[in-house]
Amino acid sequence: MKKTFLFLFCVSVILACGPQRNQSPMKGIILNTHDLSTVPDWPERAANNGINTISTHMFPGEVLDFIRSEKGQAFMKRCQELGIKVDHQLHAMGELLPRDLFSLDSTMYRMDEHGHRVNDFNCCVHSIRALDTIAAHAVRVSQELVPTNHRYYYWLDDGKPTCQCDQCRQYTISEQALIIENHVVKALRRHDPQAMLAHLAYFNTLEAPRKVKPEEGVFLEFAPFLRSWEHPICDTLAQGRGMTHAQNLKYLKENLEVFPTETAVILEYWLDVSLFSGWKKPAVELPWRKDVFLADVETYRSMGIRHFTSFAVYMDSVYWKTFPDQTPLREYGEGLK
Ligand SMILES: [Zn+2]
Repeated sequence: MKKTFLFLFCVSVILACGPQRNQSPMKGIILNTHDLSTVPDWPERAANNGINTISTHMFPGEVLDFIRSEKGQAFMKRCQELGIKVDHQLHAMGELLPRDLFSLDSTMYRMDEHGHRVNDFNCCVHSIRALDTIAAHAVRVSQELVPTNHRYYYWLDDGKPTCQCDQCRQYTISEQALIIENHVVKALRRHDPQAMLAHLAYFNTLEAPRKVKPEEGVFLEFAPFLRSWEHPICDTLAQGRGMTHAQNLKYLKENLEVFPTETAVILEYWLDVSLFSGWKKPAVELPWRKDVFLADVETYRSMGIRHFTSFAVYMDSVYWKTFPDQTPLREYGEGLK
Protein backbone atom coordinates (compact mmCIF):
# COMPACT_ATOMS: atom_id res chain seq x y z
CA MET A 1 0.00 0.00 0.00
CA LYS A 2 2.79 2.37 1.02
CA LYS A 3 4.75 1.51 -2.14
CA THR A 4 1.69 2.15 -4.32
CA PHE A 5 1.18 5.50 -2.65
CA LEU A 6 4.83 6.43 -3.13
CA PHE A 7 4.69 5.43 -6.80
CA LEU A 8 1.51 7.46 -7.41
CA PHE A 9 3.02 10.39 -5.53
CA CYS A 10 6.17 10.32 -7.69
CA VAL A 11 4.11 10.07 -10.90
CA SER A 12 1.95 13.02 -9.89
CA VAL A 13 5.02 15.11 -9.01
CA ILE A 14 6.60 14.32 -12.40
CA LEU A 15 3.35 15.21 -14.19
CA ALA A 16 2.90 18.39 -12.18
CA CYS A 17 6.47 19.57 -12.79
CA GLY A 18 6.17 18.73 -16.46
CA PRO A 19 8.94 17.27 -18.60
CA GLN A 20 9.95 20.76 -19.74
CA ARG A 21 11.45 21.45 -16.32
CA ASN A 22 13.91 18.64 -16.98
CA GLN A 23 14.85 19.78 -20.47
CA SER A 24 18.56 19.59 -21.15
CA PRO A 25 20.17 23.03 -21.06
CA MET A 26 19.62 25.04 -24.23
CA LYS A 27 22.74 26.09 -26.12
CA GLY A 28 21.08 27.92 -28.95
CA ILE A 29 21.47 30.32 -31.84
CA ILE A 30 18.85 32.37 -33.66
CA LEU A 31 19.08 32.80 -37.44
CA ASN A 32 16.82 34.34 -40.03
CA THR A 33 15.49 32.51 -43.07
CA HIS A 34 18.09 34.12 -45.37
CA ASP A 35 20.93 32.83 -43.15
CA LEU A 36 19.42 29.35 -43.13
CA SER A 37 18.60 29.17 -46.83
CA THR A 38 22.03 30.42 -48.00
CA VAL A 39 23.99 28.20 -45.57
CA PRO A 40 22.41 24.74 -45.92
CA ASP A 41 24.95 23.14 -43.57
CA TRP A 42 23.95 25.26 -40.54
CA PRO A 43 22.76 22.09 -38.72
CA GLU A 44 26.24 20.56 -39.17
CA ARG A 45 27.98 23.79 -38.11
CA ALA A 46 25.83 23.88 -34.99
CA ALA A 47 26.38 20.22 -34.12
CA ASN A 48 30.16 20.43 -34.72
CA ASN A 49 30.39 23.40 -32.34
CA GLY A 50 28.31 22.02 -29.47
CA ILE A 51 25.17 24.07 -30.24
CA ASN A 52 22.00 22.02 -29.61
CA THR A 53 19.17 24.36 -30.70
CA ILE A 54 18.53 26.49 -33.79
CA SER A 55 15.73 29.06 -33.72
CA THR A 56 14.27 30.57 -36.86
CA HIS A 57 13.35 34.28 -36.92
CA MET A 58 11.55 36.79 -37.55
CA PHE A 59 7.88 36.82 -38.76
CA PRO A 60 5.44 33.87 -38.92
CA GLY A 61 4.62 34.20 -42.65
CA GLU A 62 8.22 34.24 -43.89
CA VAL A 63 9.24 31.37 -41.61
CA LEU A 64 6.21 29.35 -42.78
CA ASP A 65 7.31 29.94 -46.40
CA PHE A 66 10.83 28.76 -45.56
CA ILE A 67 9.77 25.65 -43.63
CA ARG A 68 7.37 24.65 -46.44
CA SER A 69 10.15 24.99 -49.04
CA GLU A 70 12.51 22.20 -50.09
CA LYS A 71 15.38 23.92 -48.26
CA GLY A 72 13.27 24.26 -45.12
CA GLN A 73 12.25 20.61 -45.18
CA ALA A 74 15.90 19.56 -45.68
CA PHE A 75 16.87 21.80 -42.73
CA MET A 76 14.28 20.19 -40.44
CA LYS A 77 15.32 16.67 -41.50
CA ARG A 78 19.04 17.35 -40.96
CA CYS A 79 18.39 18.89 -37.53
CA GLN A 80 16.42 15.82 -36.54
CA GLU A 81 19.20 13.48 -37.70
CA LEU A 82 21.83 15.46 -35.78
CA GLY A 83 19.72 15.86 -32.62
CA ILE A 84 19.42 19.65 -33.00
CA LYS A 85 16.19 21.09 -31.53
CA VAL A 86 14.32 23.63 -33.64
CA ASP A 87 11.98 26.38 -32.48
CA HIS A 88 10.66 29.62 -34.00
CA GLN A 89 11.14 33.02 -32.36
CA LEU A 90 8.63 35.35 -33.93
CA HIS A 91 7.50 38.95 -33.77
CA ALA A 92 3.98 37.79 -34.33
CA MET A 93 1.18 40.04 -33.14
CA GLY A 94 0.77 41.94 -36.42
CA GLU A 95 0.10 38.63 -38.18
CA LEU A 96 -1.80 36.74 -35.47
CA LEU A 97 -4.41 39.52 -35.39
CA PRO A 98 -4.85 40.16 -39.13
CA ARG A 99 -4.92 43.89 -39.79
CA ASP A 100 -7.83 43.66 -42.23
CA LEU A 101 -10.37 42.69 -39.54
CA PHE A 102 -10.40 46.34 -38.43
CA SER A 103 -13.60 47.15 -40.34
CA LEU A 104 -15.30 44.14 -38.71
CA ASP A 105 -14.48 45.12 -35.12
CA SER A 106 -12.13 48.03 -34.40
CA THR A 107 -12.26 47.37 -30.64
CA MET A 108 -9.90 44.39 -31.16
CA TYR A 109 -7.15 46.87 -32.03
CA ARG A 110 -5.18 49.22 -29.85
CA MET A 111 -6.29 52.74 -28.87
CA ASP A 112 -3.60 55.36 -29.46
CA GLU A 113 -2.75 58.23 -27.11
CA HIS A 114 -5.36 60.45 -28.86
CA GLY A 115 -8.21 58.03 -28.13
CA HIS A 116 -8.44 56.62 -31.68
CA ARG A 117 -8.56 52.91 -32.48
CA VAL A 118 -5.71 52.11 -34.90
CA ASN A 119 -4.70 48.85 -36.59
CA ASP A 120 -0.98 49.60 -36.92
CA PHE A 121 0.46 47.38 -34.15
CA ASN A 122 -0.47 44.90 -31.42
CA CYS A 123 -4.04 44.73 -30.05
CA CYS A 124 -6.43 45.69 -27.24
CA VAL A 125 -5.79 43.04 -24.59
CA HIS A 126 -9.23 43.69 -23.07
CA SER A 127 -10.98 42.54 -26.24
CA ILE A 128 -11.78 38.86 -25.72
CA ARG A 129 -12.43 38.61 -29.43
CA ALA A 130 -8.91 39.86 -30.14
CA LEU A 131 -7.41 37.35 -27.67
CA ASP A 132 -9.43 34.48 -29.14
CA THR A 133 -8.43 35.47 -32.70
CA ILE A 134 -4.74 35.67 -31.71
CA ALA A 135 -4.89 32.32 -29.91
CA ALA A 136 -6.65 30.61 -32.84
CA HIS A 137 -4.02 31.89 -35.30
CA ALA A 138 -1.19 30.96 -32.93
CA VAL A 139 -2.53 27.39 -32.79
CA ARG A 140 -2.81 27.28 -36.58
CA VAL A 141 0.78 28.54 -37.06
CA SER A 142 2.04 26.11 -34.40
CA GLN A 143 0.69 23.13 -36.32
CA GLU A 144 3.17 23.84 -39.13
CA LEU A 145 5.91 25.53 -37.13
CA VAL A 146 6.17 22.77 -34.55
CA PRO A 147 8.94 23.45 -32.02
CA THR A 148 10.74 20.20 -31.29
CA ASN A 149 11.46 21.41 -27.72
CA HIS A 150 7.81 22.50 -27.08
CA ARG A 151 8.94 26.13 -26.68
CA TYR A 152 6.74 28.60 -28.56
CA TYR A 153 7.50 32.29 -29.11
CA TYR A 154 4.78 34.70 -30.28
CA TRP A 155 6.15 38.09 -29.32
CA LEU A 156 4.56 41.53 -29.52
CA ASP A 157 5.31 43.72 -32.55
CA ASP A 158 8.95 44.74 -32.14
CA GLY A 159 9.23 47.72 -29.77
CA LYS A 160 5.89 49.09 -30.96
CA PRO A 161 3.21 50.88 -28.88
CA THR A 162 0.37 48.99 -27.22
CA CYS A 163 -3.21 49.83 -26.25
CA GLN A 164 -4.04 53.02 -24.31
CA CYS A 165 -7.76 52.38 -23.74
CA ASP A 166 -9.13 53.03 -20.24
CA GLN A 167 -8.72 49.39 -19.21
CA CYS A 168 -5.38 48.63 -20.90
CA ARG A 169 -3.55 51.75 -19.76
CA GLN A 170 -3.80 50.56 -16.16
CA TYR A 171 -1.33 47.85 -17.14
CA THR A 172 2.34 48.11 -18.17
CA ILE A 173 3.41 46.83 -21.59
CA SER A 174 4.87 43.72 -19.88
CA GLU A 175 1.53 43.10 -18.18
CA GLN A 176 -0.39 43.58 -21.42
CA ALA A 177 1.95 41.07 -23.09
CA LEU A 178 1.40 38.59 -20.26
CA ILE A 179 -2.40 38.89 -20.54
CA ILE A 180 -2.08 37.79 -24.20
CA GLU A 181 0.44 35.04 -23.37
CA ASN A 182 -1.75 33.60 -20.61
CA HIS A 183 -4.60 33.30 -23.10
CA VAL A 184 -2.44 31.83 -25.88
CA VAL A 185 -0.62 29.25 -23.72
CA LYS A 186 -3.94 27.72 -22.64
CA ALA A 187 -4.98 27.35 -26.29
CA LEU A 188 -1.59 25.84 -27.25
CA ARG A 189 -1.78 23.34 -24.39
CA ARG A 190 -5.06 21.93 -25.68
CA HIS A 191 -3.02 20.72 -28.70
CA ASP A 192 0.40 20.21 -27.09
CA PRO A 193 0.11 19.50 -23.34
CA GLN A 194 3.85 20.24 -22.96
CA ALA A 195 3.62 23.63 -24.69
CA MET A 196 5.58 26.48 -23.14
CA LEU A 197 5.20 30.07 -24.28
CA ALA A 198 7.83 32.81 -23.99
CA HIS A 199 7.32 36.04 -22.12
CA LEU A 200 9.95 38.20 -23.78
CA ALA A 201 11.45 40.75 -21.37
CA TYR A 202 13.18 43.13 -23.75
CA PHE A 203 13.41 46.83 -24.59
CA ASN A 204 9.93 48.12 -23.58
CA THR A 205 8.97 44.95 -21.65
CA LEU A 206 12.01 44.70 -19.35
CA GLU A 207 9.92 45.67 -16.34
CA ALA A 208 8.58 42.61 -14.50
CA PRO A 209 4.78 42.21 -14.60
CA ARG A 210 3.17 42.70 -11.19
CA LYS A 211 -0.61 42.93 -11.65
CA VAL A 212 -0.76 39.81 -13.83
CA LYS A 213 0.66 36.42 -12.86
CA PRO A 214 1.93 33.90 -15.45
CA GLU A 215 -0.16 30.82 -16.22
CA GLU A 216 1.53 27.41 -16.03
CA GLY A 217 3.80 27.04 -19.06
CA VAL A 218 4.73 30.69 -19.60
CA PHE A 219 8.53 31.00 -19.37
CA LEU A 220 10.80 34.03 -19.07
CA GLU A 221 12.96 34.95 -22.03
CA PHE A 222 15.24 37.79 -20.96
CA ALA A 223 17.02 39.79 -23.68
CA PRO A 224 19.35 42.52 -22.35
CA PHE A 225 19.18 44.51 -25.59
CA LEU A 226 20.16 47.78 -23.90
CA ARG A 227 23.42 46.58 -22.33
CA SER A 228 27.00 47.06 -23.57
CA TRP A 229 28.98 44.07 -24.88
CA GLU A 230 32.32 45.76 -24.25
CA HIS A 231 31.99 44.97 -20.56
CA PRO A 232 30.64 41.90 -18.75
CA ILE A 233 27.12 42.21 -17.40
CA CYS A 234 28.55 41.84 -13.86
CA ASP A 235 30.38 45.15 -14.37
CA THR A 236 27.44 46.94 -12.79
CA LEU A 237 28.68 50.48 -13.47
CA ALA A 238 29.07 49.86 -17.21
CA GLN A 239 26.75 52.04 -19.24
CA GLY A 240 24.61 50.47 -21.95
CA ARG A 241 22.09 52.33 -24.07
CA GLY A 242 20.17 54.46 -21.57
CA MET A 243 20.84 52.20 -18.59
CA THR A 244 23.64 50.62 -16.60
CA HIS A 245 24.34 46.93 -16.27
CA ALA A 246 23.10 47.20 -12.67
CA GLN A 247 19.69 48.23 -14.02
CA ASN A 248 19.69 45.32 -16.51
CA LEU A 249 20.45 42.85 -13.72
CA LYS A 250 17.77 44.42 -11.52
CA TYR A 251 15.19 43.81 -14.25
CA LEU A 252 16.35 40.21 -14.60
CA LYS A 253 16.19 39.61 -10.86
CA GLU A 254 12.68 41.09 -10.64
CA ASN A 255 11.47 38.95 -13.53
CA LEU A 256 12.89 35.84 -11.83
CA GLU A 257 10.69 36.66 -8.84
CA VAL A 258 7.66 36.28 -11.14
CA PHE A 259 8.65 33.49 -13.59
CA PRO A 260 10.22 30.08 -12.82
CA THR A 261 14.02 30.17 -12.93
CA GLU A 262 14.36 26.56 -14.11
CA THR A 263 12.68 27.22 -17.47
CA ALA A 264 14.03 30.77 -18.03
CA VAL A 265 16.13 31.47 -21.13
CA ILE A 266 18.69 34.22 -21.63
CA LEU A 267 18.47 35.60 -25.15
CA GLU A 268 21.80 37.32 -25.75
CA TYR A 269 23.53 39.11 -28.61
CA TRP A 270 27.06 37.74 -28.21
CA LEU A 271 27.01 36.32 -31.78
CA ASP A 272 24.65 38.88 -33.31
CA VAL A 273 26.43 40.13 -36.42
CA SER A 274 23.28 42.07 -37.38
CA LEU A 275 23.41 44.14 -34.18
CA PHE A 276 27.14 44.86 -34.48
CA SER A 277 26.59 45.80 -38.16
CA GLY A 278 23.86 48.29 -37.18
CA TRP A 279 21.31 46.05 -39.02
CA LYS A 280 22.87 47.06 -42.34
CA LYS A 281 24.81 44.96 -44.81
CA PRO A 282 27.62 44.49 -45.69
CA ALA A 283 28.11 42.77 -42.35
CA VAL A 284 31.12 43.51 -40.17
CA GLU A 285 33.20 40.73 -38.65
CA LEU A 286 31.75 39.72 -35.28
CA PRO A 287 33.63 41.57 -32.51
CA TRP A 288 33.76 38.33 -30.46
CA ARG A 289 34.61 38.84 -26.81
CA LYS A 290 35.18 35.43 -25.28
CA ASP A 291 36.07 37.01 -21.92
CA VAL A 292 32.80 38.99 -21.76
CA PHE A 293 30.77 35.97 -22.87
CA LEU A 294 32.31 33.63 -20.26
CA ALA A 295 31.89 36.18 -17.47
CA ASP A 296 28.25 36.72 -18.49
CA VAL A 297 27.48 32.99 -18.47
CA GLU A 298 28.95 32.76 -14.99
CA THR A 299 26.78 35.65 -13.78
CA TYR A 300 23.59 34.24 -15.30
CA ARG A 301 24.34 30.74 -13.97
CA SER A 302 24.92 32.18 -10.49
CA MET A 303 21.28 33.34 -10.69
CA GLY A 304 20.19 29.76 -11.44
CA ILE A 305 19.73 30.07 -15.22
CA ARG A 306 20.50 27.00 -17.36
CA HIS A 307 19.20 27.90 -20.82
CA PHE A 308 20.99 30.22 -23.24
CA THR A 309 20.62 31.36 -26.80
CA SER A 310 22.08 34.15 -28.89
CA PHE A 311 21.09 35.93 -32.06
CA ALA A 312 23.57 35.06 -34.82
CA VAL A 313 21.65 36.86 -37.56
CA TYR A 314 23.62 37.90 -40.70
CA MET A 315 25.79 34.76 -40.51
CA ASP A 316 24.81 33.95 -44.08
CA SER A 317 26.82 32.59 -47.03
CA VAL A 318 28.47 35.97 -47.76
CA TYR A 319 29.46 36.32 -44.11
CA TRP A 320 31.16 32.89 -43.99
CA LYS A 321 32.90 33.50 -47.32
CA THR A 322 34.28 36.82 -46.01
CA PHE A 323 35.01 35.67 -42.44
CA PRO A 324 35.42 31.87 -42.47
CA ASP A 325 36.83 31.50 -38.95
CA GLN A 326 34.39 29.50 -36.78
CA THR A 327 36.28 30.14 -33.51
CA PRO A 328 33.44 32.22 -31.97
CA LEU A 329 30.95 29.39 -32.60
CA ARG A 330 33.33 26.82 -31.11
CA GLU A 331 34.10 28.93 -28.05
CA TYR A 332 30.40 29.69 -27.61
CA GLY A 333 29.48 25.98 -27.63
CA GLU A 334 32.38 25.13 -25.30
CA GLY A 335 31.51 27.94 -22.90
CA LEU A 336 27.97 26.64 -22.52
CA LYS A 337 29.03 23.05 -21.77
ZN1 LIG B 1 -7.30 48.21 -24.70
